[in-house]
Amino acid sequence: MALGAIEAGGTKVVCAVRDEDGHERARARVPTTTPEATVAEVARFFGPHRVRAVGLASFGPLELDRRAGQRYGALLATPKPGWSDFALRASLELALGAVVHVETDVNAAALAEHGLGAGRGADPLVYVTVGTGVGGGAVVRGVALHGLVHPEMGHVPMPRLALPDGTLDPFDGACPFHRRCLEGLVSGPAIAQRTGTHAHELGDDDPVWELVAGYLALGMATLTLVLSPERIVMGGGVMRRARLLERVRVALRRSLAGYVPRDVIATDDFLVAPALGEDAGLEGAFLIASRG
Ligand code: ZN
Repeated sequence: MALGAIEAGGTKVVCAVRDEDGHERARARVPTTTPEATVAEVARFFGPHRVRAVGLASFGPLELDRRAGQRYGALLATPKPGWSDFALRASLELALGAVVHVETDVNAAALAEHGLGAGRGADPLVYVTVGTGVGGGAVVRGVALHGLVHPEMGHVPMPRLALPDGTLDPFDGACPFHRRCLEGLVSGPAIAQRTGTHAHELGDDDPVWELVAGYLALGMATLTLVLSPERIVMGGGVMRRARLLERVRVALRRSLAGYVPRDVIATDDFLVAPALGEDAGLEGAFLIASRG
């Protein structure tokens, strides 16, 4: 029987159905509005299709404790109006009449890059996305890592880096929860708040990119030292900036200072661009559906 996949984002939900042999039967995107209306639209899409299971890759934060009953797969406190505490997975399961397996969108993307993309063969693999926010997932022995909650790699605290004139960076960041967490310093909105210019409109040589690379490198150094990944895939809209990935590689080597005794750190095979691009979340949702 067919498999379903749902990638739920803050502005749109992408749904797709594939046959067991992997051929796509249907795909649609519906706008993310109120929780009830969004679930109804998703159910309308799946209506004509009989699916064995559905994989849900959702924005978070999510309750991923399987002992939470109906709250397993619910949104936790989110700034998105109306969505806090909504039991998304359970509501979809009821509306679709099929079992729904759930992961965070970044863990789903990590599973997809690990299984099919730029992370093949790496264990652990870390996937980080730098865009409207900063998120990260880890795949350890083939399984997405969670525990107390799911990893929140974007919110690790950062020191103040020095600016080119030697003074310390005075920007406290854009995160409403923390001063100077990684997301608050390098997300697209953070770059816009710092420079007064939309990140897309800044030139490739704007000095802000060296600072962004410096903070990202400290974040990747932390992940490297804590999780000992064999590779880190860095995706998201901000990472598409020309030469940013290379700048982060250089700054990461400087930050680690030779302490991790593996030659791969010095190559371009440790910090890599994603291979699946926009489809990573949906591919991950299909993997989640098939693996259960
Ligand atoms: Zn934060």
